[in-house]
Amino acid sequence: VKDSGKNDCLLYSESWDNSSLERLTLQHELKRAIQRDEFVLHYQPQYHLGTGEIVGVEALIRWQHPERGLVPPGLFIPQAEESGIIMQIGDWVLEEACRQNKAWQEAGLRHIPVSVNLSIRQFLQQNLTEKVSDILNRTGLKAEYLDLEITETMTMDVKHASRCLLELTKLGINISIDDFGTGYSSFHYLKTLPIGRLKIDRSFVRDIQQDPGDAAIVAAIIAMAHNLNLQVIAEGVENEVQMQFLQKHLCDEMQGYLWSPPVTGGKISALLQ
Ligand code: C2E
Ligand code: CA
Ligand code: CA
Ligand code: CA
Repeated sequence: VKDSGKNDCLLYSESWDNSSLERLTLQHELKRAIQRDEFVLHYQPQYHLGTGEIVGVEALIRWQHPERGLVPPGLFIPQAEESGIIMQIGDWVLEEACRQNKAWQEAGLRHIPVSVNLSIRQFLQQNLTEKVSDILNRTGLKAEYLDLEITETMTMDVKHASRCLLELTKLGINISIDDFGTGYSSFHYLKTLPIGRLKIDRSFVRDIQQDPGDAAIVAAIIAMAHNLNLQVIAEGVENEVQMQFLQKHLCDEMQGYLWSPPVTGGKISALLQ
């Protein structure tokens, strides 16, 4: 299993394969993991490219598995989505991220938004806005400190997306488009939906130095975002050359191993001090 090197994720030799038995086992274990409270969130700082200040964090789930150690989301989120367990996991993630952000604020730390990844199933549920609104009420976090990351695929049903996103943004929540540039979608939604930020997929950032095509795409996304009055963040920034390119093209924010991998909530407290 290939894992992000600088993470504190443990490497483990076994993983779930695709046989139906293994899938059933995983499904069963995921249900149990919710009951046993085995999920944790790590947070990756998002930095302003002009000032170097932390301007947000992205919540990223990990599974503290009793035998396998810290399991990265790529190994269980797809199956959780397929089986529908993502709904319960997603509820937990939303509430935990809001609770943690409120706790940082109560500890007197600088107020920043937390970004939460939404899966397509969560996005399509009827009562998403009520759910999010309830969670904000319960945790006491103001909506402006919650950012929801959706993917381009979720905007393909423009009617649903516009109703859903309008409700969410009315609450005061910001919407970011994750993995921008990799999805199958038209640009139409960019001017019609209430989106606040584009997140340039790390596949384009990765080869900025070697591939003039990727460099051109990144520069074009930044320019387009700004012309549409959207913020733009680059993900997967791993080296100085990539960062300098982004700075030169006036990208607003960056996230990546160059400045910090995802870390525990405790480490974020220290960084925000
Ligand atoms: P994503 O939303 O695109 O998250 C970014 C991924 O890139 C994270 O992997 C992060 O650790 C990794 N990353 C950050 N900086 C760098 C870098 O400089 N270089 C490289 N190579 N990678 C970097 P992670 O945490 O393993 O998450 C993988 C995916 O799992 C996420 O991709 C997201 O799609 C999904 N995911 C994570 N947490 C959640 C969640 O709470 N709910 C849902 N629905 N999906 C989640
Ligand atoms: Ca994301
Ligand atoms: Ca992404
Ligand atoms: Ca991704």
